[in-house]
Amino acid sequence: MQTANLPPNEDALYKEPVTLLNSGKTLKRLKAIEDISYACSNLFTSDLVTVAHNVLKPFCELTGTDYGVVLLLKKPEEQIYIVASYGFPEKFEETYNNKLKFTLHSKDVSESWPSLRSIFKKQIILIKNTETMNVGYSRFFRQSIGKNKISSIASVPIVVNNHSVGAITLYFKKQHEFDDEELSFIKATTNIITGTIERNHLLEAAKKSELELKQANEVLKQVNQELDSFVYIASHDLREPLRTIESFVSILQAKLSNNNDKEQSGYFNRIVNATQRMRRLIQDLTNLARASRDNKDKEYEEIDLNNILTEIQFELTAFIQSKNAEIILPDRLPKVMGDREKISSVLKNLIANGIKFNKSKTPRVCVSLSEDANFDPGKVCICVEDNGIGIEKDYQEKIFGLFQRLHSQDEYEGTGAGLAIVKKILEKYGCAIWVESEKGKGSKFYFTLPRMQLRKYSDHG
Ligand code: ADP
Repeated sequence: MQTANLPPNEDALYKEPVTLLNSGKTLKRLKAIEDISYACSNLFTSDLVTVAHNVLKPFCELTGTDYGVVLLLKKPEEQIYIVASYGFPEKFEETYNNKLKFTLHSKDVSESWPSLRSIFKKQIILIKNTETMNVGYSRFFRQSIGKNKISSIASVPIVVNNHSVGAITLYFKKQHEFDDEELSFIKATTNIITGTIERNHLLEAAKKSELELKQANEVLKQVNQELDSFVYIASHDLREPLRTIESFVSILQAKLSNNNDKEQSGYFNRIVNATQRMRRLIQDLTNLARASRDNKDKEYEEIDLNNILTEIQFELTAFIQSKNAEIILPDRLPKVMGDREKISSVLKNLIANGIKFNKSKTPRVCVSLSEDANFDPGKVCICVEDNGIGIEKDYQEKIFGLFQRLHSQDEYEGTGAGLAIVKKILEKYGCAIWVESEKGKGSKFYFTLPRMQLRKYSDHG
């Protein structure tokens, strides 16, 4: 029995150069390789059965084989099944698979059966003359070939990802000389088969993870929508009892205002402060839920940022004056797209924070266009810079989380929801926000917005 090593994934055609002695035969063989390779390239399955059905016939026809089988090793039972056959009577595979039950690891079987030997050794087995050796056949195999005699056998293992998964075995009635070119052809064909199965394994794995990711995203989207709706409804519903508390507290306050009880009025003040804080928190929760709500008509309006900034400056007049602050606005900013109200709240929040978290005698907030060749050309990057208290490196990510504050109410008022809302609004447009800062040295908040797309000439008619 001759054996020839078959390293997995190695292109045998290149390894062993073909001598073009018999050019007619060679051409036929090359054509067959092309046909098999074409058939395999159109297969989108890692199922060996389908691949086997597509390659066995051309493979056998070309080698002049009388009988051929593709065997598959099925785990975990470690049974051998015939998945495709050539030259045998009809329903050969079915009957064979039902009748044949044997222990694969029985030494007699694996040593004397060429197919099993090639599977276990991961080697091509070539038997030029069966009379010179002890070759095992099942009874059913003998019955199927009738009076015919098998003189030569070739068995090629199918090695996928370094594991033997089966074999292609060819049986010749007449004694067959296996020349080098034929051997190369057999190896090349097996490589095509294993390549097809491996490629499709990868494709299937990629498709599976793509599908899983898509499904997970759908679930996440739904959960987020449900959560937003819950927050929206809950915050609306909370307003009602809060209003009741506030009105009864003011009635009580009015009734007891004459008795000059300092302790009592202290309690009332605390209740009023608490309800006001609760109102602000509820308002922030509503704004947060609103940040990701679709407002179909307004989602992508054309926005003039300079306009918005002037409006914000006007709205914040009292606050700016009370802090002796100064806002420096840019000359001209490019047009952007988005929901005007939401984008305005982003800028207002950042500007107000720049004034609020500031101990300088003249708090200064400067809004400018930030330009960098590395930026996405579809986006506009805006910088809001202040000369305030700055933020330590360790907290620069944390501040964008909901209700995350670095200071107490006594130091700086607020709920800690502002930047979380800003981030959520921007993320809806695929935009980002980040901060560059150092404690005591002011902060620079950068954020991107979708740039207004210029109309194509054709749009003007
Ligand atoms: P709030 O203003 O209600 O506290 P934000 O979400 O707007 O909530 O900000 C979160 C925290 O980030 C603030 O409490 C503050 O500690 C910090 N912060 C935000 N903006 C600035 C800034 N310009 N300079 C320094 N710290 C800031």
